[in-house]
Amino acid sequence: MTNETVSPQLGAIAREDEHVAHNYHPLPVVVESGEGAWVTDIEGRRYLDCLAAYSAVNFGHSHPELVRAATEQLGRITLTSRAFHNDQLGPFVEALARLAGKDMVLPMNTGAEAVESGIKVARAWGYRVKGVAPDRANIIVADGNFHGRTITIVSFSDDADARADFGPFTPGFRSVPYGDAAALEAAIDENTVAVLLEPIQGEAGILVPPSDYLPAVREITERHRVLFIADEIQSGLGRTGATFQCDNAGVVPDLYLLGKALGGGIVPVSAVVGNRDVLGVLQPGQHGSTFGGNPLAAAVGSAVVGMLATGEYQARARMLGERLHASLRRLVGQGVVGLRGVGLWAGIDIDPTLATGRTVCEMLLARGVLAKDTHGATIRLAPPIVVSEEDLDWAVQQLADVLAELRG
Ligand SMILES: *Cc1c(COP(=O)(O)O)cnc(C)c1O
Repeated sequence: MTNETVSPQLGAIAREDEHVAHNYHPLPVVVESGEGAWVTDIEGRRYLDCLAAYSAVNFGHSHPELVRAATEQLGRITLTSRAFHNDQLGPFVEALARLAGKDMVLPMNTGAEAVESGIKVARAWGYRVKGVAPDRANIIVADGNFHGRTITIVSFSDDADARADFGPFTPGFRSVPYGDAAALEAAIDENTVAVLLEPIQGEAGILVPPSDYLPAVREITERHRVLFIADEIQSGLGRTGATFQCDNAGVVPDLYLLGKALGGGIVPVSAVVGNRDVLGVLQPGQHGSTFGGNPLAAAVGSAVVGMLATGEYQARARMLGERLHASLRRLVGQGVVGLRGVGLWAGIDIDPTLATGRTVCEMLLARGVLAKDTHGATIRLAPPIVVSEEDLDWAVQQLADVLAELRG
């Protein structure tokens, strides 16, 4: 069969499959355009995007303010490298530092780079400030973590697929059960430089720790003079109804790791944000990135920070989140066996005897809802914060209908 005889959609998928590395297993939809919470495929069908590119599209597709910032900067200059200064970086780092209540920003591109950079900064701080013996630093992480895909990051993952055949791994990490502050404290020794955690474990299935966990981690890390690094790459920048999930928990970490929505879904922009006593350890030549802090990224990042500075998106995520969780709670016992989340972010465990998460996502796709499964029978819903109340209700109704269909 040639591509001409199959549907445009299947032809496009076959074409991609032939030459792209198979490191993903996408749902069978080929998206062509998007606006707000909706995307359109190459055959003109519309879908409500309830994944929002893993929260990189928190502000919706083609947000006019972000598109304007990007387009204006495209016409000026996009890349200088940091061998020279550019006029966009200063305003961006100033605004981001102010938003986070910190002194300094280390701009990078992808989330994994922010994590790697945070690890480097923590180790250098350990040797140069805390006085840890050379090459002895350790960092404590949590079981079930997801921090990205580099060798060092998968070195402390416990996901077999993420690690298999990628060794040898980077030493210097200890993993303890997530949500257990006593286990975390017991793992700290004189060479511990940092604790690295997701305030909510996103990829693990939107796991929200007990409410006293992050405050306890803050207290323990302060007492032992260990840095608290919060990976807010997915939980931060509005999704949970606050600028950072740490705000909801009432804690201030030493370093924030940011990414995803920081680039407004337009360009990859990530950052490590902290105070001078920690980020100030980096000296010229000790770390860098050709694209980090480029003027296009900085212009878009500034627009994102400007939108978050109003508090409008955080308030909207909180309001819509209450609505989402209230309507999802009605599905518990109707095919839903577990429900977690904060703000406009939900992890929904489907009764595994009914269907896999993948099957549920395929059935949602057929009804015009884009969602993604994780870990077998968990579905996550994280639509753009600009989604309307009616569209959000409609998406939950589609899930209810799918579950009713599966239950017969
Ligand atoms: C997505 C994610 C990362 C990695 O970001 P990339 O841009 O894919 O490298 C790191 N940490 C968390 C919590 C994430 O959700």
